Amino acid sequence: MSETRTMNSSDKLSVTAIKNGTVIDHIPQGQALRIVHLLSLLKRKFKIMTGMNLVSKRLGTKDLIKIENYILTESEANEVVIFAPVATINIIENFKVTKKINTHLPPSIKSVFICPNLACITHDEAVESNFDISEEGKQITLTCHYCEKTFNRDQVKVKI
Ligand SMILES: [Zn+2]
Repeated sequence: MSETRTMNSSDKLSVTAIKNGTVIDHIPQGQALRIVHLLSLLKRKFKIMTGMNLVSKRLGTKDLIKIENYILTESEANEVVIFAPVATINIIENFKVTKKINTHLPPSIKSVFICPNLACITHDEAVESNFDISEEGKQITLTCHYCEKTFNRDQVKVKI
């Protein structure tokens, strides 16, 4: 593994190290809770620690999530990219980074988002939401399969 990052001292002060699990670092400030809901981390009863508004050389301020005793799947890691395009997702074993999960933006995402269009059929019928995801420059947009409207990622709410 070529890229192993060591935590800087401000991370260590703010968020306790985990022995085994996954660390999602370099989350844009304000997006950690959306990712917690996106991955259903609370529902699944994982032990998680979040750091918010931490100092980051790359981002200015950042959020960070540590999930104890769980390794994100590749598709979960890819979903994180929707809210955190430059996130670093590392697997921790015995307090050390053993692997970095490579991510790419998924082409579509089912069931986790609510369509912001109130007239959309997904609000009345028992259908799973389904959005196509696209990226233009730094803008990530989601297009609803049903009403075909396109939304900025910040307009789309995660089902809780
Ligand atoms: Zn819709």
